[in-house]
Formats: sequence, C-alpha cells, structure tokens
Amino acid sequence: MSARIAILGGGAAGLSTAYFLAARGAGAGVVLLEREPALGTQSSGLNAAILRTLMPDPWLRRAGVEGARFLFDPPAGFTDQPLVDPVGLLLPADGEAPPPLDEVRAQAPEGLELRTLDAAGVRAAAPYYGAPTAGGLLAPTEGRIDIHELVQGFARGARAGGVTIETGAEVVDLRTRDGAVVAVRLASGEELACDTVVVAAGGWAGRLGARAGSRVALRPTRRHLLTTAPDPTIDPRAPIVWTLGDAFYARPESGGLLLCACDEVDVDPDRCGVDPAVREDVARKVAQHLPAYAGAPVVATWAAMRTFSRDRRFLVGPDPDVAGLFWVAGLGGHGMVASASVGRLAADLLGGDASDPLAAAFDPGRFAGAGRAATA
Ligand SMILES: Cc1cc2nc3c(=O)[nH]c(=O)nc-3n(C[C@H](O)[C@H](O)[C@H](O)COP(=O)(O)OP(=O)(O)OC[C@H]3O[C@@H](n4cnc5c(N)ncnc54)[C@H](O)[C@@H]3O)c2cc1C
Repeated sequence: MSARIAILGGGAAGLSTAYFLAARGAGAGVVLLEREPALGTQSSGLNAAILRTLMPDPWLRRAGVEGARFLFDPPAGFTDQPLVDPVGLLLPADGEAPPPLDEVRAQAPEGLELRTLDAAGVRAAAPYYGAPTAGGLLAPTEGRIDIHELVQGFARGARAGGVTIETGAEVVDLRTRDGAVVAVRLASGEELACDTVVVAAGGWAGRLGARAGSRVALRPTRRHLLTTAPDPTIDPRAPIVWTLGDAFYARPESGGLLLCACDEVDVDPDRCGVDPAVREDVARKVAQHLPAYAGAPVVATWAAMRTFSRDRRFLVGPDPDVAGLFWVAGLGGHGMVASASVGRLAADLLGGDASDPLAAAFDPGRFAGAGRAATA
C-alpha cells in the first residue's frame, strides 16, 4: 500500500485538511486513517459547539473569523442545512473582578456586532442567567455550530475529491529513513508507504509525532461538559452565556442546559475519563450564575481533550526537524470554529503556498528557533 499523503486522524483537523486538499484538486493519493469506527467521535464530537470569534489572541481570532465565514456561507454542495444557529453570545460582567467591557470589546474581530447591555438588558436577553451583574455585551451573530453536518460535509467533500477515508485504522508507528518519514504502520500489521504524514490526531498527536523523532511538544488537557434534564422554562434559542468574571459558560441543549466550569487539567490521552469531582465545581458555579437551576438534575457528564502548543496557538505546517512530517494539531478550544481556516492553510502549505501570514504564526518551527517572525 502507498499514498502521497497519509493524514492521521479523522476529527476536524484531519477532515478539513482532506477536504481542502480535495477542493484544490489534490485529493488523489491522499489517505485519511482514523482509529475509531466512525469519524469525529473524539474532541470533534464531544465539544460545546460554540461559534465564538471574540478571542484575545489576534491570530486565533483571524483563523476563527475565516472559519466562521465558511460556517455561515459554505461552498455550494457542502451541506443543504445551515451550519450555524446564530442564537447569540452573551458576556455578562459578574464575579469578583470582571474585566472592563472596553477591554473585552478590543478582542472582537472587526465588524462583529456587539451590543452593550445594562443589567435589565442582560436579564431580558437570557432569562436563565441570574447572577448580580452591572451589564454586559451581546454578540447576536455568534452561536451554535451543527457539528455533525460540519464533520460529514468535510468527509463528503474529501471523498468526492478523491481522498480515501478509512475508519478502524489505527496507526501504531511512523517509520523514518535518513531523518525523513517514509511510512506509517497500522495495528493490522499493514504498512502504508507515503511521502508526507499529516499528524492530525488531536490529544494523541504529540505521541505520534514523537514516534518519528519530532521534538514538537503538545499538552493534552481535559475539560468536562454536563447536561441537565429538559426544563420547559428554558428557551431553546436563548443565547449562550459566557461569564466575564468567572470561568463558566452555559447554553440551552436538548431542552435542558449544557454547563461547563472551564476546567483545564493535564491528562494522559488514553485516560481522559470523567472526574466526578467536577460536578461539585459546576454545581457551585450554577448556584452563582444560574441560581434558578441550582439542583437541576444532571443527565450526562463527559470529558474530552483540548490540546495546546506551548504558546496556545495552533500548529499547522512542517515539522522543523523531521522531513515529510506535517502538523495540523494543537487546536485547543477553537478547533471547530477555526476548522475551515486550519484545513485551508494546511492544504495551501502542502501545495507549496506559504504566503498567508497565518503560516508564520502557526509554524511548528517557531519553538525550534527556526520559525519566521509573525506580527499581528
Ligand atoms: C469540552 C470541550 C469543549 C469545546 N468546545 C469548543 C467549542 O465550543 N468551539 C470550538 O471551536 N472548539 C471547541 N473545543 C475544541 C475542539 O473540540 C477541538 O479543538 C477539536 O475537536 C480538535 O480537533 P482534532 O481533529 O485536532 O482532534 P480530534 O477531534 O480528537 O480528532 C483526532 C482524531 O485522531 C484519531 N486518532 C488518534 N490517534 C490515532 C491513531 N494512532 N491512529 C489513527 N487515528 C488516531 C482520534 O480517534 C480522533 O478521531 C472544545 C473542546 C472540548 C474538549
């Protein structure tokens, strides 16, 4: 078996890369290998599905804006359903020391509509929110992503453009010769010879890259999400609430609420199970921010990984040391909103075009002293 490009991982990173390679007519000879029986079942299927482009880091924001543009206006044939429900994102100023609203405003991308609300306005926008607040900001065009349609749209487009996608295909080793990757070995014992290996394995990416001798470091961290039982007082299209003075967000989900205490704990990717202690933390934050729902029955709790590079920016580009090794990883907490930008950039770079300034910002070589300087 042989391929021009082997993509390891069938989450947002791998699928968007495959999609954009196919879209530029370079899908032939590309094989995507996903260990699970289905695509998008790890972080890309276990996240909060929030489209938030208001972010402090200018490069992540730029990628988020490009990703959001794609989500609002995908290419013809990508899907016949909207990929975003723009329910709005409400940022109430509460807690001990919320940042000044002007500081938060400065993190908004150009052109994003942001309304300043007083306390009554905050309550009216999201009646399920109930903490004392001086006011807040509402971004009415941020919202919820249809994750299933996004993942399937990438996969459909990739296949249509000639990419081979294999599920149940676990990569156990990367083979190198003279400092270059030459093949990947599968759990089945098969070997796939290839010119380029794209590591897009989420929380497992660092481990796989290390098999080829890469020094690029990634930090998988665990975050929990909880959902509560359906409650008729919750408007299913109320805005997402993301508090400014505390690490907490919530949004309507399946008739109840989806809750997150924004936990971040380093984790072994093979042991990212639920820590029951999270429920207490969430209960305390719900009592503080959504007092009417304190004690609401929790019906599901799960955990998944947000994986970070050292500076928390994405890693998209060639490995600084190992020839033929290419990274699309470290997507942290923004991999769904920025997926189209990341895949588009990866496909450009694999096609030899490094003209986008994002290429320098996300260059894996930046930690090896070999990265080009990036200025926002
Ligand atoms: C709780 C939580 C909430 C989040 N909320 C949001 C949000 O609201 N908005 C947003 O934009 N982002 C959010 N994120 C971040 C987002 O989910 C991630 O950035 C994104 O899913 C990363 O995609 P990925 O493809 O890199 O990883 P994954 O989706 O994990 O995909 C990696 C794939 O690689 C496969 N794989 C691993 N090892 C191997 C191997 N050896 N062989 C073959 N395949 C392998 C895995 O099975 C997996 O399918 C959230 C994350 C978490 C954990």
